[in-house]
Amino acid sequence: MQCYLCHATALSSQLCFDCYRDLPWNQHACSRCATPLASTYDHICGQCINKPPAYDSANCPLLYLTPINPLMLRYKAGDEVCGRFLSQQFADLAPVTRAPLLYVPMHMSALRQRGFNQSYYFAKTLSRQWQLEINDVLICPVAHHSQKGLNAAQRRRNLANSFAIKPGLKLPKTVNLVDDVMTTGATVEALSRLLKNHGVESVHVICLARTPPSGMVPAI
Ligand SMILES: [Zn+2]
Ligand SMILES: [Zn+2]
Repeated sequence: MQCYLCHATALSSQLCFDCYRDLPWNQHACSRCATPLASTYDHICGQCINKPPAYDSANCPLLYLTPINPLMLRYKAGDEVCGRFLSQQFADLAPVTRAPLLYVPMHMSALRQRGFNQSYYFAKTLSRQWQLEINDVLICPVAHHSQKGLNAAQRRRNLANSFAIKPGLKLPKTVNLVDDVMTTGATVEALSRLLKNHGVESVHVICLARTPPSGMVPAI
């Protein structure tokens, strides 16, 4: 078997030992928002102490750095092999709670354009890996504009009211919420607020990768 990244011999997974070790693992992160921490003494970041997010925990095994970001872009452009490769990087992750998996929904027009929802794809991977059911309760009835290039406040405004819960469905008290990449966290924040306004008590976020704050050097 060849390593997916460098074509050296890979033993069991899709990567050789060196490439696997060199992936940008999010090794020391805030337990609440998964942002990488600069000091290994901290467990929670200053922002979560001052203003905790609506979700209760966030788990992102990787940082959104090379080679993860170009692979994610290739996957979103339709490269399924990239999608399989990326979803395999969840392999060492364990669920925080054995609750149903929800995923970030896409508006019909965006779904038609891309042909698939990457958050649903990752939720399916985790559903198989953890033997947890997927719950299709979240919908995106209003198309929001691309989040690219917007700051946190603009992202919040852009997302407000774009998500909803399917009418007539009963929500679990605890949920896992799956997305592909957590950038500012505005999307999972908006969905967590919505879920909690509808009686959900705990929301645990799982994303494949977390964008590190600009200029920060994570602790190894
Ligand atoms: Zn390799
Ligand atoms: Zn935090």
